Formats: sequence, C-alpha cells, structure tokens
Amino acid sequence: MPQPSSSPISARPPRIIEQVDEAVDRAEVLRYLGYPVGVSPNAQIQNILDYWVAQADQLATPRAIYVVLPVAEKDRRRLRLQTGRGMVEFHGAIGEFLGAARSVAAFIATAGGDVVRLASELLGKQDALAAMVVNAVGAERAEAAEAAVIDELREQAAKVGFAPTLPYSPGYCGMALTEQTKLFSLFDQENIGVTLSADCLMRPLKSVSGLIGIGPAAEVEQFGSPCDRCELHDCAMRR
Ligand code: SF4
Repeated sequence: MPQPSSSPISARPPRIIEQVDEAVDRAEVLRYLGYPVGVSPNAQIQNILDYWVAQADQLATPRAIYVVLPVAEKDRRRLRLQTGRGMVEFHGAIGEFLGAARSVAAFIATAGGDVVRLASELLGKQDALAAMVVNAVGAERAEAAEAAVIDELREQAAKVGFAPTLPYSPGYCGMALTEQTKLFSLFDQENIGVTLSADCLMRPLKSVSGLIGIGPAAEVEQFGSPCDRCELHDCAMRR
C-alpha cells in the first residue's frame, strides 16, 4: 500500500460537541417529508407542521463526538487508521471518498432519544402525520450535529491549508454496514449515548456516523464529489 504523506492535523483525543446552535432547517425537514424543492405544504398542513416542528425541536438534544486519527496506509479499497491501541482497517470505496485524506475524523452524531420516543408515541396514537414530522426533525437535527463536526474540522484544517472531504458512512456507497463496529470501537466509553445493536443499527435511531477525510485543500477540491462520477443518477443521497 502507498504511504500517505504526513498531516499537520494529527491525532486528537475524542471531542464532544454538546450543543448545536443552528436552528432547524425547515427546507431539510420538508425534504425528509418528501416535498420536492420549491413545493410548500398547504395552509392546513403548514399549521400541523409548525406545531410539531416546534415540539420536536424542544425535545431534540443534538450532540456529536469525533476523534481525529492519522492515516497509516490507504489505497482504493482499504484505509488503515493508527489508534492508541493499534490499527483499525476500514474497507469500501476509500479512493473515491477519502482519496485526499492524510488524517480522518471518525464521528457519531445524534438527535437524542426523546425525539424518537415522541415519534413512537404519536404512531401508537395513530397520528402518522405528526410522527412523520417529528421523525423528519430528528433526522434534520442529527444532520445538524454532523454539520457542526464538519464546521469545526473545516475551521481547524483551513489554518494549515487543509480541508474536510464529504462524510463517508457505513452502509452507503460500497462501505458495508458492519464497518460500524470498527467505527464504534474508536470511542470506548466516551460515546454520547448512542449504542450499536447486533445488526449494526444505531440507537437512538436518529443518529448518523461516518468518516471525514482531512487533506490538502487543493487535493480535496480536485477529488470533488464521488457523486459527480457515479452513474446512479436517481440516488436520493446524491451530493
Ligand atoms: S450518487 Fe449516491 S451511490 Fe453514487 S456516490 Fe453519490 S451517494 Fe453514493
């Protein structure tokens, strides 16, 4: 495997982002609800939406944890990260997503459990629309916690001419969902209340995890988005 050159963004202990200041992005909530861009709900739905977005926002506790680790080795399909207890090796479309990385931030971000509980209660009461709105806010809040990680990394990386790549998550685009176990092994007890089930699903359900490469800004830009080179034109995850 080729040895990547060293990174000025080197190993960091896990950092927890305790709160997310960014307000709920209503356009994202509508996107999760399946509204096409530019289409708004009618006045009656809008009222329901306003009420349940506010309720879910109050209950959500978006948080994130991340750890930055140096890349020891990588090639098109494999990535080896140096941890304090040896190497952890990830498999997937590494060259496409993390080709420019000199170090990698592994992260877990969550909207918290209360918002998921509210959605379940609403479903139990047959209020499917309210449950959908609450779930959509949960997804948006987990995404906002992920964005807070990327913002921090971008700020730190910019000081040395580096930049973050797009996040690459287990279960997507050629990385098996089972790679979650390796990702979670990087956090030990320092997690943020997110657990992994035997079938590699995160609890609370409204949580996201992944790897973000950090590399020279010019190289990150040159690599661009793997979606630009992907032939799955109707992929809902296209970025
Ligand atoms: S278009 Fe979809 S499948 Fe293709 S690289 Fe992007 S997210 Fe992955």
